[in-house]
Amino acid sequence: MKRKKFLQTTSAFTLGTILTSPLVGCLNRSGRNPEKPGYSVSKKTGIERRNWGRNIIFRAEHLEHPSTVQEVQELMLKAGNKKALGSTHSYNDIADSPMSQISLRKLNKIISIEETNKTVTIEGGIKYEELVPQLYEKGFALHNLASLPQVTVAGACSTGTHGSGTKNGNLSTAVRGLEICLADGQLVKLSRDNNPNIFDGAVISMGGLGIITSMVLDIQPAYEARQDIFLDLPLENVIENFDQIMSSGYSVSLFTKWQSDIVDQVWIKRRVDQPVDNLGTDFFGGKASDRNIHPIIDLSAESCTDQMGVAGPWYDRLPHFKINAMPSAWDELQSEYFVPIEHAGQAMRAIANLGEKILPYLYISEVRTVAADNLWMSQVYKRTSVAFHFTWKSDWPGVKKLLPELEAALAPFDVRPHWAKLFTINPKTLQKSYKKFPDFLELLKTYDPKGHFKNAYLDSNIYS
Ligand SMILES: Cc1cc2nc3c(=O)[nH]c(=O)nc-3n(C[C@H](O)[C@H](O)[C@H](O)COP(=O)(O)OP(=O)(O)OC[C@H]3O[C@@H](n4cnc5c(N)ncnc54)[C@H](O)[C@@H]3O)c2cc1C
Repeated sequence: MKRKKFLQTTSAFTLGTILTSPLVGCLNRSGRNPEKPGYSVSKKTGIERRNWGRNIIFRAEHLEHPSTVQEVQELMLKAGNKKALGSTHSYNDIADSPMSQISLRKLNKIISIEETNKTVTIEGGIKYEELVPQLYEKGFALHNLASLPQVTVAGACSTGTHGSGTKNGNLSTAVRGLEICLADGQLVKLSRDNNPNIFDGAVISMGGLGIITSMVLDIQPAYEARQDIFLDLPLENVIENFDQIMSSGYSVSLFTKWQSDIVDQVWIKRRVDQPVDNLGTDFFGGKASDRNIHPIIDLSAESCTDQMGVAGPWYDRLPHFKINAMPSAWDELQSEYFVPIEHAGQAMRAIANLGEKILPYLYISEVRTVAADNLWMSQVYKRTSVAFHFTWKSDWPGVKKLLPELEAALAPFDVRPHWAKLFTINPKTLQKSYKKFPDFLELLKTYDPKGHFKNAYLDSNIYS
């Protein structure tokens, strides 16, 4: 694959440390300023810049905030490595750079909505929380959302971020077009329609191709959704009826601490424009919740989207956390592992067997499903999967010791980790799990031949 050939075939569309050691800094929580998460703390002041979870100190010397695409292009001509920075919600150093991070926060607008094609074109720094209310107002929706709307669309789609739903692809599957600024300042437009041979490789690229300056996403007519929660389902009931339970709604999440043979909560999110059965008060042995709750049961449900079957806009039900609210526990770490859905029961038993070892480090675990896709570096490439997420307490030494055991328990199922969370799987094992890995590597080398968008994470996990 020659870059020249790629560029010839690209055409304008209406765009208008595995962490064997990628964890460069794991910090105690002193000095946390709730007013200034992430990169709002400037290095120029002498204070370290950190990711949203505050477990990573960015090593990049510079943080640039271009306000036009032309400024992005000009920045490319400066010496040294660069990396796009989204909203800093990744738990590893995937978004760090040895030299400069480039935040597109000032490029956060909707460029156009094409009603006939059912697409929205957005700037490369927009967050879901900025995009989705505007889409809803105009009568449109996305097919799914992650647990929180505070992340950027480009950052989420570059790492295979997902919600739940056995028939729902991850958020990256909605990407129909990309405009990418390459290291030489050139803008390249790639689309699903015009570049079918490589587009599937370009969507989940971990910032390795360049800076995404705009994106085209599939949209659909707006819909309303409701969520209903059931508590304390016997684990064996869940394992025996896994497919039925996970298909009981448009998007279904299980929350569990892997204790006492109980799955603590099941959140069933259903579209109200599709048939909605009465689920009753007893759901596979679980009792209907009689109040709004937080996935971490001891925390206030104030930040959570409305439950108890109350219908509301899609964007205010599919995520667990509201726009403008604090998602999750914040003082936490995260890992997530994907295995093919046919192994769901065995994998759940394998994790439950480690329940006592996991418990001291765990706030809560979430189990979701994600439909198979064709994106080369997707954790669910060609395999509908179950995703096991772990919200850990902020004890990296303890979690780091535990992860290899957890990963070994899931290894028989060809486990793949979430690109943006904490894992210790060996890069070679990881690369072997991705059939299209050699093509992805070639794509990176073609579009970024001098490795300007490399960082320690890509060096370790992809280029090694
Ligand atoms: C509380 C919390 C809840 C979460 N819930 C979920 C969930 O439900 N499901 C899930 O799958 N994940 C979840 N995540 C993980 C999160 O979705 C990913 O870390 C995602 O990548 C974060 O997006 P970001 O904008 O913060 O990107 P960053 O972390 O800033 O960057 C991630 C990657 O994207 C690249 N990138 C960012 N912007 C651009 C751009 N313009 N051009 C090129 N590359 C770019 C970066 O270079 C980097 O490689 C959660 C994280 C947190 C903190």
